[in-house]
Order: sequence, then structure tokens, then C-alpha cells
Amino acid sequence: MIKVSTFSGRSVGLFGLGGSGIATARALVEGGAIVTAWDDNPDSVERARGEGIPVSDLAQADWSAFSTFVLSPGVPLTHPKPHWTVDLARGAGVEIIGDIELFARERAAMAPDAPFIAVTGTNGKSTTTALIAHILAASGRDTQMGGNIGRAIMTLDPLAADRFYVVECSSYQIELAPSINPTAGILLNLTPDHLDRHGTMQRYAEVKERLVAGSETAIIGVDDASCAQIAERLERCGKEVIRISKRLPLTDGYYADGTDLMEAVHGQYSRIGFLEGVGSLRGQHNAQNALAAVAACLKVGLDLGEIQSGLESFPGLAHRMEQVGRRGKVLFINDSKATNADAAAPALSSFQRIYWIAGGLAKEGGIETLRSYFPRIAKAYLIGEAAPAFSATLGGSAPYEISGTLAAALSHAAADAAQDDGQEAVVMLSPACASFDQFRNFEVRGDAFREAVLALDGIEPIGGQR
Ligand code: ADP
Repeated sequence: MIKVSTFSGRSVGLFGLGGSGIATARALVEGGAIVTAWDDNPDSVERARGEGIPVSDLAQADWSAFSTFVLSPGVPLTHPKPHWTVDLARGAGVEIIGDIELFARERAAMAPDAPFIAVTGTNGKSTTTALIAHILAASGRDTQMGGNIGRAIMTLDPLAADRFYVVECSSYQIELAPSINPTAGILLNLTPDHLDRHGTMQRYAEVKERLVAGSETAIIGVDDASCAQIAERLERCGKEVIRISKRLPLTDGYYADGTDLMEAVHGQYSRIGFLEGVGSLRGQHNAQNALAAVAACLKVGLDLGEIQSGLESFPGLAHRMEQVGRRGKVLFINDSKATNADAAAPALSSFQRIYWIAGGLAKEGGIETLRSYFPRIAKAYLIGEAAPAFSATLGGSAPYEISGTLAAALSHAAADAAQDDGQEAVVMLSPACASFDQFRNFEVRGDAFREAVLALDGIEPIGGQR
């Protein structure tokens, strides 16, 4: 645990007692802060009380006594409207921060040299964070990974100068971390997302920009206009900016040429790594993630050999184009995290011949935006409530059947793919839909797919991260 010593002896209000809220409250208490914690959900309050966290109704608290107010990132700061505790904090002139800010202040006070890599962006945050942590750990570095992925940041091992921290940051967490100052800050990409919480694209981009603006070195994916502008603006302000591109040769920076990872220095190019044969990092989107990882690992002192070896041994993340098994020329892929058409696009673009299991609870717009990938669909197996709508969109453009359930879809797809005498084919669950009509969540759906694949006759399992 990282004890928060920077608030020792001072009063701190805290709202939100989910897993990370309880961990933060405990870290503050252990560090000597006088904590008043609360949640709107009585069950969460009781659970925290049971764990020895001092709980008391913040509506009745003396807010003028608080030196800071710690808010869980899931609680609205601005949109759709500020939570009632936010109004009380503002009324009393108390700063509002989150657990990543506590980490940043603790690092500044206790171990300012501890390498700290922070990752944000609309897509690819978890993959990039996990990849960097994997490369560092595989090279023998003492590595801690947390934040929006895996462990709450305060549950990581205590700060030390030679301990590496890799932290995934959502925009909500960045909004609550005004002094975030990573050694390497990564902004992968920006597309409209979570505008319900941030209001406008401009505000969303401003929040994301703060992470790279605060970093010693800013690593920015410049394939979209918002990020390209941020890179230019920061460079003009004198910040060290490293540009990455998944598709364009840059004059300076890192870019992907197919599966080759290239470095450009004043227009001189050299190959610094490759993704050829790395099954967990297929597709252009993963080239972007890998380039960001390469740039960050170089920044914190790894050499190219260590980085390449980490890229090659990366097991990948569950439910994101996860390789489950192989049978002959057929590869089985679990992309259950693709809960809308945009999220399914990278997976469809990464393979040429696809037995595609899709459907579930449809999102607005359906699969119309995926039309350019239809020629790659050997056959679609449609499940759940969205099946009729998806079949109407596929129409005469790709063969399909309405399979109904995931089990039936897999069994039919596996049988058809086994008869495919063409090139390598994949049987892939990339539903472009939420799961809630048939499963509790996308993880349960992906787990069901994985189990069913591994139960097929003659499957060679491909070990991945679970
Ligand atoms: P996040 O943590 O930002 O949600 P993940 O790493 O969990 O991102 O990946 C979720 C999905 O986003 C993947 O299954 C893939 O479809 C897509 N994705 C991953 N990386 C990228 C990227 N760099 N650009 C665009 N889409 C991506």
C-alpha cells in the first residue's frame, strides 16, 4: 500500500466508497490523515465501516475544516450536473482531487525520481498500459501497474526511486489530478466519447491534454486532428514531444510501416522493432499501442533488445482480440470487449477471412459503419436481439445465419471454418453489441466463448492473460 503522508494530521473529506475509494481512504488513514468518508449507497457505507474506515454523513460535515476533498472518479464533477458533495466543496472553497493526484503528490514528496508512465486516450489505454508493464517486468524492472486498469493506485507497492509505475488514466481521473507529472505521459488518440460526462469534444480534449502537458516527455499519437493539434501546441510551449503514427512516415518520431516499427530523426529512418508474428498485437491499432510503449520504455531507460523481447512475449489482454486457440488453419479469437460497431472495426480490419459471431443488445446505428469489412466475412453467425437488424444490414453483402445463441454460433462457425480450404481463417466473437440480453457483462460473454472454444475437439489452446 502507498500510505499518503502528505495529509498527515489534516482533515480530509472523501466521497465514493467503491474498491478504489476504500483503498484511498485506508491509505490516507494509515498516513495519519483525519478522514471523513461517505457514499450515497448505504451498503457501501456499511462495508467501509466494517473495514475500519471512519464514515460519517458529509451532508452534516463542517466543510471549512477539510484541507482537501477526495472524490471517486465515477462521481460527476461537472456533467450531467455536479454531485451534491462537489457543490458543498466548492461552496467551502475546498479543492477537489482524486487518488491519482494523491499519488502524484506523494511521489513528488517521497520519490520524485520513481519512473512514472501515465497512459490515456479514447481507445487502447488498457492494452498499452499492460504492454508497457509487461515489457518493464520482463526486463527485470520492479514494476507496478494500476489506476483505471487492475489495482487501485493506492494499493500498489510503496514509492521507491527504482520502482516503475505504469498507470492507466481515464479522463475522469485526469480531471481530478491537477498536478499529474509523469516521466512519460502518453496520449494515444482522441475520438468523441464520454461526452455525457464532459459536455463537448473540446472540453474532453482539454482534460486529456492535461496529462501530457504535465509530463516530462509527452508521447502523442498524431493520427487524429485533435491529438496532432495538442502535439503542436505543447511543442510551441517548449515541451519535449515525441510523435507516433500508426500509418504515416513522420519526419521525427516513431511510426509503423506495416508490422515494422520505425524511428525517424530529421527524416532519416531506421527500423527499431517489429510486430511480425506477434499474435497479441495484430492490427494497425495495436501498432499505435506498441509504438507508444516503445517510446515510453526508451524514455525510462530500456534498450531496444529488452523492448523487442517484451513485445514478442506480450500475452495480450483477455476479451480484446484475445487468441484463444487454434485448430489447423483456423484461429479462434475472443473480442467480446467490442460492444459497439466502432470497437469491432479494429478486429475486423485485422483479419482477411472471418467467420464472424456478432449480435447481442444492439446499439444505435447497428453495423452499417462496418460495411467496408463485409467482403472479409466468410459467414456471419448472428445472436441475440440484434440478429434481425444485423441480418437486414448484411443483406446480400455477406452470407449469414441467425444462430440465436453463442453456443450454436460457435459450433456452426467452427464446423464451417474447418471446411474452409482457403487461407488462414478466424472464428471470431466480435459482437458489436452489448451483452446484457444474454450475459451479465462482456467478460462473462467472452469467458463463455473461451470455454466453449477450448472444449472443441482438437483445439490447441493459446495461453493468454486472464
Ligand atoms: P481502453 O482501455 O482505452 O478501453 P483497450 O486497450 O481495452 O482500450 O481496447 C479496447 C478496444 O479498443 C480493443 O478491443 C480495440 O477494439 C480498440 N483499440 C485498442 N487499441 C486501439 C487504438 N490504439 N486505436 C483504436 N482502437 C483501439
